[in-house]
Amino acid sequence: MTQQPHILYIEDNRDNQRLVQRILGARGYTVMIAPDGMTALALARETLPVLILVDINIPGLDGYETTTRLKSMAHLHETPVVALTADVSPGARERALVAGCDGYLSKPIDPRQLPEQVLAFISGKREFVPPGVETPMLRAYNQKVVERLEQRVRELMQAHNELQEIDRLKNRFLSSLSHELRTPLTSLLGYIDLLNRGMFGDLNELQQEALEVLQRNGDLLNRQLNNLIYLQEYRSLPLALVAVDLTEMARRLVQELQPKVERSGVQLILQADSEICFDADRVALELALTNVLDNALKFTSTGGSINLMLHNEPSRVIIVISDTGIGIPPEALDKIFIPFYRIDHPTVSSQPGNGIGLALVQHIVEAHGGQITVRSTPAKGSTFTVTLPKHQDTQPDQAATV
Ligand code: ADP
Repeated sequence: MTQQPHILYIEDNRDNQRLVQRILGARGYTVMIAPDGMTALALARETLPVLILVDINIPGLDGYETTTRLKSMAHLHETPVVALTADVSPGARERALVAGCDGYLSKPIDPRQLPEQVLAFISGKREFVPPGVETPMLRAYNQKVVERLEQRVRELMQAHNELQEIDRLKNRFLSSLSHELRTPLTSLLGYIDLLNRGMFGDLNELQQEALEVLQRNGDLLNRQLNNLIYLQEYRSLPLALVAVDLTEMARRLVQELQPKVERSGVQLILQADSEICFDADRVALELALTNVLDNALKFTSTGGSINLMLHNEPSRVIIVISDTGIGIPPEALDKIFIPFYRIDHPTVSSQPGNGIGLALVQHIVEAHGGQITVRSTPAKGSTFTVTLPKHQDTQPDQAATV
């Protein structure tokens, strides 16, 4: 079966769209509709219509500008573009031709004539601007395009300034919010710790259970708040490099995660070379490790396992965190490092999180001159590998956009 020839019709008026579709559809054409110039350009990039009909008065880029852009596309050089417009003012035809149109048809659309008019252009008919008129018209057209461009640039600059101001206010708000939350949360966590250590007497079983719930939710809030504070403040500061024993840090983190590991019914195994010492930002590195481990725990169901392996090499440290969890679909592998991105999966939606963890991890790793990669098989598990150089070669500007 041969494909029906396509006509692209650029028109925002629904009645005209339907009318042209009906008239030309009856003659064996498939009429694609673009309600504005930008949609038309996107459609035209992917198709090769036999003809393009363009209304001049359309939203966004007008019909003249859309035509000029269409005519600059190499694959459309031979495709006739015909203005189909209600503008019948003096010079309207010439203006359309100067912008690049190959012909001009005035509205109202005549259903009896349109198929023949269209066929004539498809068969090679072309209209031209009379000599002597073209140069002044071209100059006027160019001037109008540049004026419109100038106006758009002005609007964009204003919108950009407004967005920057909103961003500044948002940052100020987030910064003060995180500090206001930090003080009461520290006090809550402190009292939970005192209760846990029996400083206020022995607790009965029910009180113990209630305390566990408090501890769990307090820890969750604490992690989210740490991410927020890092995002708002520390990521724009230079790294505070100190000698860090990674093995010791990992042991402590694994120990701290133990209650959560037991509750989840998974196994968390640490395999580490002893004493991996190198210069790193302790707070940032701990935040990065916590986030990746926390994800492994969140996305691995009961019975699964998580392995944290630390390798000490002469010039670098390799951290491998693998889990037997839900895995990550191939198309999402490079998106998970984008701030606020979360995979659309029931397990992900049921877990706390806001999608900034891995963006922070990537920022921290790269600020240390390292890199993070991920391999994953859906429903089988994921492996995150972090490589950090031992001799810091950090970028002067740590403030990568997170
Ligand atoms: P959050 O965990 O707060 O949603 P992250 O930035 O840490 O945000 O992770 C982004 C997304 O990447 C998660 O929402 C999840 O969809 C996916 N992801 C991260 N780690 C894992 C993992 N170990 N297994 C499966 N999916 C993961």
